Amino acid sequence: MNFTITLLPGDGIGPEVVAESRRVLEAIARRFNHSFHFRESLIGGCAIDATGNPLPQETLDSCLTSDAVLLGAVGGPKWSDPKAGVRPEQGLLGLRQAMGVYANLRPVTVMDALIDASPLRPEKVRGVDLIIVRELTGGLYFGRPQGPEVIDGERAAVDTMRYRESEIRRVVKLAFELARGRRKKVTSVDKANVLASSRLWREITHEVAADYPDVELEDILVDACAMYLISRPADFDVIVTENMFGDILSDEASMLTGSLGMLPSASLGVAGKPGLYEPIHGSAPDIAGRGIANPLATILSTAMLLRSSLRLDMEAKVVENAVARVLANGARTADIAAPDQPRTGTAEMGTMVIEAMENSD
Ligand code: NAD
Repeated sequence: MNFTITLLPGDGIGPEVVAESRRVLEAIARRFNHSFHFRESLIGGCAIDATGNPLPQETLDSCLTSDAVLLGAVGGPKWSDPKAGVRPEQGLLGLRQAMGVYANLRPVTVMDALIDASPLRPEKVRGVDLIIVRELTGGLYFGRPQGPEVIDGERAAVDTMRYRESEIRRVVKLAFELARGRRKKVTSVDKANVLASSRLWREITHEVAADYPDVELEDILVDACAMYLISRPADFDVIVTENMFGDILSDEASMLTGSLGMLPSASLGVAGKPGLYEPIHGSAPDIAGRGIANPLATILSTAMLLRSSLRLDMEAKVVENAVARVLANGARTADIAAPDQPRTGTAEMGTMVIEAMENSD
């Protein structure tokens, strides 16, 4: 099959980790006889340097006309002057908005080989395999009115949490579809005892659930969920929630694995439109250019790209299995190595994953 993939390496370690993902995709193309056409475009700080714009029109056009987009990371100290007129992050937010990706999927899997990297005790995190589906384009971060105001002569500020039925329905439906391919359980997180928008969220979620009698639904209040993610994380399968709750809970959940360098993500919109795939970590300027960054979060994001945007499930599994095998064999980049373990570099880790893919059945 033929696919066009836009690569946005970005800044810092972005180019180093995206290069390894590209090699993985090339190996998949060879093995399964696909044809991947790559376009590489600028975003973030490097785009500001080259064009003055963190999201050049050419980049946006390339993304919107691709089958999928893989991003490294944006930002770094060079562009972090708070007085600067343009910032790298504007490129990323603008891209998400322009692509209409309303659901952010963040899987959190604690692999047996890495169980000791977690700050929690092994018996707490063994078997953790959950996915957080965060609503990405609505809620408090986008509601209007928003901004400072003056009430009775004193400074005040307002934000607005507003959700429409259609915004809730589409993301909850996506969560139920995902659950069907997993352990068939959806946990919907809200604050329905206090917030009107959460009561609507719960109402719509139950309406959607009626179409999925094979999937179990539980409602949990957000404060309780924050607690259960630490006390019984292995009980969760698919968690679906609104934008701000998802922002906070997904960062909490990422720490179950103890390592930013391992966690992929996908942002999806309307079916048939390209998805955006990226590791959850940033541009790691402290280690950029040294060839020591962990490429696995980006490689696992590539597996999500194969599965969700290209519908190449078997190919995605081959990549994920190869990553698990390489870790089981003891390969470790510096961020996940124990003090006495030898350290594998970025490119060497990429090569090991490709070799494990080529040697699998
Ligand atoms: P960061 O995720 O870049 O780094 C945090 C720490 O984790 C650093 O010590 C870094 O070396 C380490 N780390 C991160 N990814 C790693 C990897 N793959 N392998 C090994 N170690 C890794 O977060 P930060 O330092 O807060 O931010 C740095 C820059 O990245 C900032 O400019 C920030 O705005 C930007 N950022 C971008 C994104 C994005 O592009 N989506 C996300 C977060 C931060």
